[in-house]
Amino acid sequence: MEFYMCAAEQLPEVEAQTEEADEGAFQQTFRWSVEVTAPERIAALVGGQMEDYRVPIRYLPPGKLVDLWYQFLSWVETQRKQGAAAEGEAAIPSWATFYRCWTELFHKRCLRFREKSQHAECDDSCFRFRQQLGRGGISAADRVQIASRWRAHLTQQWMDRSIYWSLRFASRSRDFGVLVVIADSMDKTKWCYPKYHQMHRLPHELENFSRPRMVLTAVLAHGWRTSVYVSDDETVNHGANMVCEVLSRTLQSIFEEKGLVPQHLCLQCDNTVAFSKNSDTHLWVAYAVARGLIASGSVNYLTKGHTHEDVDGFLSELLPTLRRNCFNSVADVIALLREDLAKKESSGETLIVEEAVPRNYSSFLEQLRIKIYNCFMPRGDTSVPHSFTYKRRSDLSSKEVGQLTGTNREGHARDVFGICKSRMSDPARDSFKPVLVLPFAFMDWVGTYDSIPIMPRKVVSPERAKALERLAMILEGNPYHNAEGAATLRKLAACKDWEDEVKNFSFFMQDPEVVPTVLPTHGSEEFSHLPKVCRPMLAKFG
Ligand SMILES: [Zn+2]
Repeated sequence: MEFYMCAAEQLPEVEAQTEEADEGAFQQTFRWSVEVTAPERIAALVGGQMEDYRVPIRYLPPGKLVDLWYQFLSWVETQRKQGAAAEGEAAIPSWATFYRCWTELFHKRCLRFREKSQHAECDDSCFRFRQQLGRGGISAADRVQIASRWRAHLTQQWMDRSIYWSLRFASRSRDFGVLVVIADSMDKTKWCYPKYHQMHRLPHELENFSRPRMVLTAVLAHGWRTSVYVSDDETVNHGANMVCEVLSRTLQSIFEEKGLVPQHLCLQCDNTVAFSKNSDTHLWVAYAVARGLIASGSVNYLTKGHTHEDVDGFLSELLPTLRRNCFNSVADVIALLREDLAKKESSGETLIVEEAVPRNYSSFLEQLRIKIYNCFMPRGDTSVPHSFTYKRRSDLSSKEVGQLTGTNREGHARDVFGICKSRMSDPARDSFKPVLVLPFAFMDWVGTYDSIPIMPRKVVSPERAKALERLAMILEGNPYHNAEGAATLRKLAACKDWEDEVKNFSFFMQDPEVVPTVLPTHGSEEFSHLPKVCRPMLAKFG
């Protein structure tokens, strides 16, 4: 049960599915359930076989049952040390019993190993422990020791997830001034366009053409917004500018609808430098804090290889729609997704599906002449922080003020400091000392938010334009007669006539009256500026 609850993920190998895959089976494994409470899930796991009590199938990374066996032995050992198993001291279940339980209870009902993994694997720890256990010539006691260390690692990544889940709860309840946003992009290798049924069996004449691709970015602002942004990969830049764009749009649309934005922004992103773990994204958060648009901004990352979360499940939900249908352009995909998502059960959050072409936030933030560095890329064996919080000098805790040194002791109340710690679940007291990342005086150097220019579309090379024209001609002729698809390709080749929408960012144009942040009297142990209600729920079994 411990494995089901903490190590397994509700995420089979989506990439391995082909267009011909059995959609029924696919759907079955993919029912994305909103939260089920822990007691219900436990009841379902240990309960009867009733239809109502089915739990979703979850997947463990590729591995062997014998690895689980040693982890089980290590668990038994821990229980004994804690005295929990004193009564049943004599009976350690045999391998045969363990095997029978696995096949009859877990494997059949809810827990499987993935066949192979195309998801990022945890190569730092899980891979290493699996290798160690796989070696010959090690005593059983040593194997249990290795398994213990492996379990500690799995528990730690679960604690991080628990923090995310509890923050998500706070965001959905809308009562705590916390806005949790999780964002991720769907692998761009997946969706080429134009896509239509005849192309299922790609004709020989089209085999050598690489069609344009598109990128889907999902942004779940829990309790407030569910958004999908679609953009062409050939002409649109992704990365930090796109992250700043989708965040700007998210905050703007909440502001437009509700007239306010929660005070504390918590951003949860995939652990990649190209997407959000970079100076530009973090500086954007610090900028929003210095402007007084938000009181604090946290950027959190789960452990690499253990990052699959609800946003991945949500993106996977979109796959059948894209797989089933034909489309010629980004606009077609947007229309399809809008139609399909409108039919699905909604959690009451506003749904947004639109095209996104980012503005040039990098050049805008460059005016600050600040670079945040040294904390994003691991070097050798040195790991990097996974949790970053940006807040104003006036909101530093007394302990954090005490850690300031030299000239940083004095300054403007709205100077923004960055505070990082190794893991999300580390207690706030183990954070590094605050680093001044954005002195308020520097804010005079940046222009207004509406001055940020849209990123110009990338121009395709002359060779590429020729190839697109050849493909357009093929599509116009027999047997395709796809004039619309051909027109999309020609527009791409010509690289003009884009009508990219200039968004109104009124939220970012206001000059909010900066009032002291109402900090909780007793902050949570992990984030002193966030309410204590965000403590993770813990459950002890057996
Ligand atoms: Zn791992």
